[in-house]
Amino acid sequence: MTTASRAADDRRRRMVERLAEQGISDPAVLEAMARVPREAFLPEALRGRAYEDTPLPIGHGQTMSQPWAVARLAELLAVERRGKVLEIGSGSGYQAAVLAEMGLRVFSIERHAQLAREASARLRALGYLAATVKHFDGTYGWAAMAPFDGIVSTAGGPEIPGVLVQQLRLGGRLVIPIDRGRAGQRLVVVTRTSAGSREEDHGPASFVPLIGRYGFRPAPPA
Ligand code: SAH
Repeated sequence: MTTASRAADDRRRRMVERLAEQGISDPAVLEAMARVPREAFLPEALRGRAYEDTPLPIGHGQTMSQPWAVARLAELLAVERRGKVLEIGSGSGYQAAVLAEMGLRVFSIERHAQLAREASARLRALGYLAATVKHFDGTYGWAAMAPFDGIVSTAGGPEIPGVLVQQLRLGGRLVIPIDRGRAGQRLVVVTRTSAGSREEDHGPASFVPLIGRYGFRPAPPA
């Protein structure tokens, strides 16, 4: 093992200890985050900062969510090993790798073509074969692969896309940041029930905008 990778291992262990102190308690999440090499999802120049608890730029105006946010989404998703999940907003591919490391089958959609290509290649190179990335508008979901045990959006929308709730199995959960006007962006969990669905608020959030047919509209070309 090289000195550099040993240093990364130490920093990763400390990151996981911090997450536990900050209230992340699902052992499956903590164990997965102790294994995924976060630095491998960042541009070369930022790799030294991989284990800081902060979002980091990944190009194209997008960011990799901070470790706490990644852990929180995975924990709220609450899907058992071997479950099938949909992720909206692949970005760097890091969250998808964490979910794959938890033993889940991950279908991930990214609206930015180049990010989708890079995330897909990176996940394959690192051996995360349980994660599949597609370039598309994730607000439509992925009907061909439905129903999902859980759906997580790593970008925040103006309202809950009903089409995503329809792609959950009964009892499945959609975890999504939603703009609540004066209350700001909130992390919302929608559970599909036989009567329709049930919503819970899980506190303030600050994710990048979800842009698409059932999200925010893209700015017109200048
Ligand atoms: N999970 C990522 C976080 C990336 S930030 C990671 O671990 O790195 C959120 C991502 O959502 C951005 O890459 C953005 O391009 C993407 N996004 C925004 N709206 C989207 C949509 N409608 N469909 C798919 N991806 C979208």
